[in-house]
Amino acid sequence: MKLKKITKKDTIKKSNVDPIIIAGPCSVENFQLMDMTAAFLTNLGVKYLRGGAFKPRTSPYSFQGLKEEGIDILKEIREKYGLKIVSEIMDARDLDSALDVIDIIQIGSRNMYNYTLLKEVGKTKKKVLLKRGMAATIEEWLNAAEYIALEGNDDIILCERGIRTFETYTRNTLDLNCVPVVKQKTGLKIIVDPSHGTGRRELVKSMSLASISAGADGLILEIHPEPDKAVSDGFQSLNFKEFENVYHQVLKLYNIINTELK
Ligand code: PEP
Ligand code: MN
Repeated sequence: MKLKKITKKDTIKKSNVDPIIIAGPCSVENFQLMDMTAAFLTNLGVKYLRGGAFKPRTSPYSFQGLKEEGIDILKEIREKYGLKIVSEIMDARDLDSALDVIDIIQIGSRNMYNYTLLKEVGKTKKKVLLKRGMAATIEEWLNAAEYIALEGNDDIILCERGIRTFETYTRNTLDLNCVPVVKQKTGLKIIVDPSHGTGRRELVKSMSLASISAGADGLILEIHPEPDKAVSDGFQSLNFKEFENVYHQVLKLYNIINTELK
């Protein structure tokens, strides 16, 4: 049964390579922002650049992303820097044109239950970053992954991005329990998003290190040269200097956990 494909532990390809670190602004705001960010990340040795062109915003009056224009900017940046592009697709009709540009298709929290979209990305050969629905159980999340895999694409990375709880101090509650659960139950890689998971930039460093300690394969972090001026999610974005500090500590910790403490 295909269903066992994802949940079978022996599909794990355990590697000692570097963690998967994805960074960039919440939204692709303009070319300059992406150019600056890409130059900065390339210099640090980060390989994955994030940036949303299609933005799922809670309010329909908020910035919805540059859409196709954003994809064009990402294309230019990809060609210029050779970075791998991670970006969200919300509608299967946008998949075709984005396939040449996006290296990892992000399925956002709000779309984890969009089975039509999951099946469509399952028909592609692209790597998929499947975020956990904000109210999804681990079981429901893994079933969403199965929807993708059943169409033939099992190149899936799961992403814990925080769940809704009664707590309101933080935007979401980062459920780090799910990291060892996913590791024990499946052969999939799992990364954590402490930016959306906390919604507070002052908590991002602690929760990044906690995620790596819990066994995560990497992180996706929102960064911006001037977070207070970001069009979206500036309150949870790190500036470049803050990111650099987190990045170096994460690399060190990841190394210790995956070698010395193994
Ligand atoms: C994002 O990564 O910018 C985003 C919208 O994430 P999520 O789907 O987890 O809310
Ligand atoms: Mn965001």
